[in-house]
Amino acid sequence: MDQLTIVEVSPRDGLQNEPVLLPTPAKLELIGRLIGAGARRIEAVAFAHPRLVPALADAEAVMAAVPRGDGVSYAGLVLNHRGLDRAIAAGVDEVNVVVAASDSFSRANQNTSTAQAMAAAEQMAADAHTHGLATTLTLATAFGCPFEGQVPPGRVIELAVRGAAAGFGELCLGDTIGAGTPDQVRAFTAGIREAVGDSPRLRYHFHNTRNTGLANAYAAVLDGVMVLDASAGGIGGCPFAPNATGNIATDDLVWMLERMGLTTGWDLDALLPTAAFLTDQLGHQVPAMLPRAGPFP
Ligand code: ZN
Repeated sequence: MDQLTIVEVSPRDGLQNEPVLLPTPAKLELIGRLIGAGARRIEAVAFAHPRLVPALADAEAVMAAVPRGDGVSYAGLVLNHRGLDRAIAAGVDEVNVVVAASDSFSRANQNTSTAQAMAAAEQMAADAHTHGLATTLTLATAFGCPFEGQVPPGRVIELAVRGAAAGFGELCLGDTIGAGTPDQVRAFTAGIREAVGDSPRLRYHFHNTRNTGLANAYAAVLDGVMVLDASAGGIGGCPFAPNATGNIATDDLVWMLERMGLTTGWDLDALLPTAAFLTDQLGHQVPAMLPRAGPFP
């Protein structure tokens, strides 16, 4: 039976905006806990400039020490060729190449226009495939930009079509600032399928900034989307997206999906203590609600 895949992004998106810099061993403990709870795809690192994203400066050290042999696929987020070269050298299994659909965000986040970033992404897909890596193209700010507001959906679809032509194995639409609503998710799912069919596989990256995250996830699942990003404890944010709070919480998402009768491969009993671990490490309570309420029944 088809199993829904959760790409666990807490070690990357979850930590990149935290004022507390987690030491490498704590990140490795987090990753170990996630694997113990069922994670099989983990976005463990980003290869951004260490000065711009200091929380993720130890990407090479993390990748050198992650446990291997559990069938876990480790992804690294990359923004440019330099990042891709580092990701290949560090031994990631997959790369998540990010292109922002809005120009202003692209310039703030990656110091390049959308057009330039997309052209670079096409080349990066080819290079990554040469090295045997799986590839995802994430279109950030697909549901809205903190500087420009609404992003025309046609612009997002156009980029998705180019990503498909470039051979990306997966297309991920990122709601970077948590501005999306379920009807928009369904419209994107239909629009992308109409434009590129079922390949590449569609994936979503939701933030719960305005409390629509789980509703958006449900809207994606309703239409058969099988890959969703989530973050243990619901931690997360983007240094270049003002007030963008956490990703949808893996805890809450797994609970909802499993109670709906879907299989995720995650074990909530094993995952729930991770919220306390993160609270302890980060020095504040995490946004996920299930660790507070407890599972039911
Ligand atoms: Zn994000």
